[in-house]
Amino acid sequence: MTEVSMAKEDVASTDDLVVLKNVNKHFGSLHVLQDIDLTVARGEVVVVIGPSGSGKSTLCRTINRLETIDSGTITIDGKPLPQEGKELARLRADVGMVFQSFNLFAHKTVLENVTLGQIKVRRKDKQQAEARARELLDRVGVGAQADKYPAQLSGGQQQRVAIARALAMDPKVILFDEPTSALDPEMINEVLEVMQQLARDGMTMIVVTHEMGFARSAADRVVFMADGRIVEQATPDQFFSNPRSERARDFLSKIL
Ligand code: ADP
Ligand code: MG
Repeated sequence: MTEVSMAKEDVASTDDLVVLKNVNKHFGSLHVLQDIDLTVARGEVVVVIGPSGSGKSTLCRTINRLETIDSGTITIDGKPLPQEGKELARLRADVGMVFQSFNLFAHKTVLENVTLGQIKVRRKDKQQAEARARELLDRVGVGAQADKYPAQLSGGQQQRVAIARALAMDPKVILFDEPTSALDPEMINEVLEVMQQLARDGMTMIVVTHEMGFARSAADRVVFMADGRIVEQATPDQFFSNPRSERARDFLSKIL
């Protein structure tokens, strides 16, 4: 390869929003992420599936640097992940995260949950932040709950607040780590519908989920992980109708 073509490859194309190259991470002797290469384009919806313990949550957590990596590189919109300080706070604002356990501030109202970050990190004034928060709460269908506390809401409502809170930061990408796993069955769809709508609106999303219906209908690409590796990547159609690896076939036979 010539020097010129190498240099060109080193510059992330503007369409590549999240790029992991040869990422490795250990927890003690456990090699939890092994040679992970993953590129997520702007506007793309990537669904990550795989058995419990395969490293899906750790993968998400490294992308907004809740976890450090041992080797490799992660870039967001062409910039390497910052190590600390203000740069890191800004990165976390660019990379939204929605967890299984909602993680709302229990002692703040719904409205406050959605305005806090806008004021502290995005430096908006209170009025602006509240207007945006109300708009987003309406959009996810919980506008009427704005003055309540999280504990007064159902799980499905709390998770939709968590999505509104993530959106309020105007993130470049949102990571969802099993966002419906802690919900009662009748609340799963109201959250998936909000996520479907976000996907249609062009939000870049990385979604860890066991909801295969969501994967089929919303994903541009399915990434299958097992034992810390990306074993297979394909379109949902390809993946569900014709998984290439034995590991994926075995996984699908157990859950479908
Ligand atoms: P998944 O989300 O696919 O279920 P995780 O990323 O949560 O997988 O975990 C992958 C492996 O790493 C598991 O074996 C888990 O026990 C281990 N692990 C996760 N977090 C830690 C940690 N902070 N310290 C030690 N081991 C961990
Ligand atoms: Mg997990």
